[in-house]
Amino acid sequence: MSDLLLNLTPTAAAAALGDWLRDRGEPAYRVRQIVPRLWQRPVAAWSEATDLPVGLRRELDAAWPLPRPVQRARQTSHDGTIKFLWEFPAGDAVESVLILEGRRRTLCISSQAGCAFGCVFCATGRMGFVRHLAPWEITAQVRELALDPELNMPTNVVFMGMGEPLHNWDAVDRALTILNAPEGFGIGARHITVSTVGLVPALEQLAARREQFRVALSLHAADPATRRSLMPVEGKYPLADVMAVLRQFPKRVTLEYVMIEGINDRDSDLRELTQVARSSGALVNLLPLHPGGAPGYRPTPPARIAAFAAGLEAHGISATIRRSRGLDISAACGQLRLETDEVRGVSPEVDAHVEE
Ligand code: SF4
Repeated sequence: MSDLLLNLTPTAAAAALGDWLRDRGEPAYRVRQIVPRLWQRPVAAWSEATDLPVGLRRELDAAWPLPRPVQRARQTSHDGTIKFLWEFPAGDAVESVLILEGRRRTLCISSQAGCAFGCVFCATGRMGFVRHLAPWEITAQVRELALDPELNMPTNVVFMGMGEPLHNWDAVDRALTILNAPEGFGIGARHITVSTVGLVPALEQLAARREQFRVALSLHAADPATRRSLMPVEGKYPLADVMAVLRQFPKRVTLEYVMIEGINDRDSDLRELTQVARSSGALVNLLPLHPGGAPGYRPTPPARIAAFAAGLEAHGISATIRRSRGLDISAACGQLRLETDEVRGVSPEVDAHVEE
């Protein structure tokens, strides 16, 4: 779909449009009228760009279509969290979740349909890998919010939905530019977080970008044996190698730690986590396992999570306990998609294969 303007960076889209307009004898200033309608002040269809002549709008429709996903499901939690299920013209569906906390409107977006990495506590992992999303499909999750008269642009974007963003690096790399560029959505790099299980080659490429995007590592266990039992990727990219790359990022990284009773919440786990967090200067986010996300696993009780946080703080490590948002609306990663498929009689594949 390289012919879509929405798949291009704003600079490349302006260049492609400039050539196209020149061929039609249109004035160059039309580029400055058209590009903002892609992301800054988006239109659902070119027919809505009423500052352009009708004939040009028709030509834009034919040459540069603006595809949109269909909203297949939407659930609102009593805590205000909104979960969307988007279906793309190619037929696959992904989720995004909007979390409202005061003025902060954080949108959690998906980068792949399904996921190849098979983390045992994750609903998306149980689906197996379906496909990579194109840049426009990743950024459409933000664009659709901007187009919805009841909603608004998110202030923050986190790549924590379905899929491993660094497994789809080329598309995510471009999506990051679209999200951040002033001619794109203009969301500050410090308000965009890429969450990863730690794919070393793409992590190095992310570290090499000049913008200071935030990075969160899905850690979930700090000793290699426990981590490998939860996350097969540990066998391919050992934690020590991942932590070495994380030190190249100028901003403090965050370590995400989903707490699972009896699995990674023992005293020995706390000691290992303390060591990794202290040596990397990272922040730690402790999250209770979402109760519906992983059959056979139970969330660590709140008192034990609080004790873990206190243990980290006692060693000077900043630890935050995150609430599990949207508990009443299936807000665990991949869960809405699984439920919808079950209703439709589709059995999600299980594929724990780890690919690069
Ligand atoms: S936690 Fe992330 S990387 Fe692991 S299976 Fe789920 S979506 Fe994939």
